[in-house]
Amino acid sequence: MTKLTHLTIKAALEGLKKKEFTASELVGAHIAASESARHLNCYITETFDSARAQAKEADARYAAGKALPLDGIPIAMKDLFCTEGVQTTAASNILRGFVPPYESTVSGKMKADGLISMGKANLDEFAMGSSNTTSAFGNVINPWKRKGDNRDLVPGGSSGGSAAAVAARIAMGATGTDTGGSIRQPAAFCGIAGIKPTYGRCSRFGVVAFASSLDQPGSFARTVEDNALLLRSMAGYDPKDSTSVNVPVPDYAAACGGSIKGLRVGVPKEYRVEGTNAEILALWDKGVEMLKDAGAEIVEVSLPHTKYALETYYVIAPAECSSNLARYDGVRFGQRSAGENLIETYENTRAEGFGREVKRRILIGTYVLSAGYYDAYYNQARRVRKLIWQDFIDAYQKCDVLLTPTAPTPAFAIGENTQDPVTMYLNDIFTIPASMAGMPGMGVPVGLSADGLPLGLQLIGKPFEEETLFKAGHALELAAKFDALPQLLAA
Ligand code: GLN
Repeated sequence: MTKLTHLTIKAALEGLKKKEFTASELVGAHIAASESARHLNCYITETFDSARAQAKEADARYAAGKALPLDGIPIAMKDLFCTEGVQTTAASNILRGFVPPYESTVSGKMKADGLISMGKANLDEFAMGSSNTTSAFGNVINPWKRKGDNRDLVPGGSSGGSAAAVAARIAMGATGTDTGGSIRQPAAFCGIAGIKPTYGRCSRFGVVAFASSLDQPGSFARTVEDNALLLRSMAGYDPKDSTSVNVPVPDYAAACGGSIKGLRVGVPKEYRVEGTNAEILALWDKGVEMLKDAGAEIVEVSLPHTKYALETYYVIAPAECSSNLARYDGVRFGQRSAGENLIETYENTRAEGFGREVKRRILIGTYVLSAGYYDAYYNQARRVRKLIWQDFIDAYQKCDVLLTPTAPTPAFAIGENTQDPVTMYLNDIFTIPASMAGMPGMGVPVGLSADGLPLGLQLIGKPFEEETLFKAGHALELAAKFDALPQLLAA
């Protein structure tokens, strides 16, 4: 039998139902795997004891024939979701020791469906980054390595701990949040699948805010269908989040396996940007062929404002972050570095509590929002954002879904891309436009680079039509047959 840690969520649920193994065994196997993979630094806080206790409860429900929909499945919870009674840090020193008195809507829904959190997954500080190297709790290591090169690689970011945990088989799935690519890019770097649903699909209540008009929870798993199971649990209207949208949540798993005959797949010409790795461009062509062979109709489309997306994002996201992070003042949450007076306490707390990248974003954000520049930068960026959104709406006249690369390069070594922040920001060139427009995006692992690293492709869909993404993503997955294992596990 396949090792318990290598099962898909779907197969594990079948095994549990047939009593081939217990939830305690399943969770136990993942705890053992986590303990031997501690060097990856996937978790900021491990919650193994409560996971064991929850597994026992799941076993009792299975025995009584009253199992919950996803009962007993071990997952990793990005440490940006507030979890009642469990430290929630956003990977920042400023929140070290913060124990929320309440649960985020998404993590609460998942718990109610029987999912078991193994721990709070590491991330870039406040989800700002593309490599999980800005965490105050240390770097996360990607379980993949280049052939013949022993250097540690980044897992991508910001949801690096979540993605690495799923790739390393220490969790069967994970939550992430995606503001500009933080689910799709780490999924690509770690050779797994992930989805950022439409903005408004999952509640942001209880998720530590970075840029509120962009932040969206989503999932990671090793297959498209496993993501469908997780997203169904996470999604849904929440009156506690004013941007949550009241539309029914379909059975996403039912969309997996459907025919894509006649599906119109758009290939945006503007995504052929200079600097993209040649292997990724070749993989993109291959992906187009795969979908065509499965019955899709391929159409070339244009998203002319793509070239402004990154710049616009780096005005809007820092602006919103500077406002959201103003609440960390040393009075209400986490760290306090007392000074002579209140102002000095604010200054000391924020100087010591925030890392370099977070400070950079706050500075940019306060600058673009300052009285003299508000119109020139912030308002102008909002106008361009509207044009980016309009590009997608126009393209969807001609196609149902878009196929693009996910990231311009495979995973890089720690320190390789950190000389200047702009090189790092370029990582999200293909993921940011969909974020700016609020469109759903899915990352699917499709191939390996010549030096043995996973490469992924991105599908972007119409608002609230995640089912089309699941259908197309599943077809791509079937054709790609990606079954390579990270060196950590192959060895
Ligand atoms: N890498 C991007 C940033 O640093 C996106 C991060 C995210 O999606 N949370 O802003």
